[in-house]
Amino acid sequence: MISYADFHHQRAQRRRAMELGIHASLGIPKNINVFLDNGAFFFSARGETVPVKEYEEFVENAHPCWKPVPRDFIPTPSMSFAEQRLCLNRTMRVNRSFQHDGYVPVAHISRVLDEYVVRIKAHSQLAAKPHIALGAIVPNLLRASKAMPYRHILDGLKKFRRDFADKKVHVFGIGGTATVHLAMLIGIDSVDSSGWRNRAARGIIQLPGSGERVITALGSWRGRQLSREEMRTLRACLCPACQFEGVRGLKASGTRGFCNRATHNLWTLLEEVKWVEKHLTAGTYREAYKEHLDNTIYRPLIEYLVNALPERENADGRT
Ligand SMILES: [Zn+2]
Repeated sequence: MISYADFHHQRAQRRRAMELGIHASLGIPKNINVFLDNGAFFFSARGETVPVKEYEEFVENAHPCWKPVPRDFIPTPSMSFAEQRLCLNRTMRVNRSFQHDGYVPVAHISRVLDEYVVRIKAHSQLAAKPHIALGAIVPNLLRASKAMPYRHILDGLKKFRRDFADKKVHVFGIGGTATVHLAMLIGIDSVDSSGWRNRAARGIIQLPGSGERVITALGSWRGRQLSREEMRTLRACLCPACQFEGVRGLKASGTRGFCNRATHNLWTLLEEVKWVEKHLTAGTYREAYKEHLDNTIYRPLIEYLVNALPERENADGRT
């Protein structure tokens, strides 16, 4: 996932992507799908107006593989019901205006999620879309005051998945080693997050099956340090950055350290996805996650979803 907000603020990159196409301009092989985020979360967090026309012009020329409508109005947990409804009305207006040319409609995790489902299903063009995106999970998962209870969010996601069983569902803002478990257990098709890059910039790394750990002290960021056992796991990491420079590279300062940590974090995340896929396919997830996952705050939620999995296997994977 690449955000339009980054292109918007780097005019030379934007021009290049529009001239060469997004793949060639970033050196991405053609067989890799490039998802584009409209940057609405970024723009609205900074009080900037979302540049709808420029986004449209960009996607027409840069040809990303997947693109949401140019703008969505993101409800925050602190908003009243009426305010969340206003966000829904505004976002639905954009969804309807961009029912053409492969734009993906957007809905939000909020108290009005069910109404999104009803309205999208009632609109023949939107109902026929092969893709749909779901946003606003970040402020809810971050436990903002008045954030929805976790279980409520999970039930909402499960219902949304069922309601749009015919579509590929993409969820914005999921990208931690534990939260990808949640997404995959629900059957979400794709997720994205810039968390792996943001963590890298703060000197933080991700580890398989566990939360984030501070590998190098940068600025005022605080966090949990690695245990001796976690350090052993890290030393055995097979990611390209660790293979090349080891733990020393992850601790490095400047761009070099950032690139190493970002590479390591993304690799770890993708390996985690493979791990979950493997165990869900083999029918061994129900037992395997208990050993694999650290005591993350998401563990009870994973447990909640696992209990709802169909009873189809023994612990050793035999059906
Ligand atoms: Zn690594």
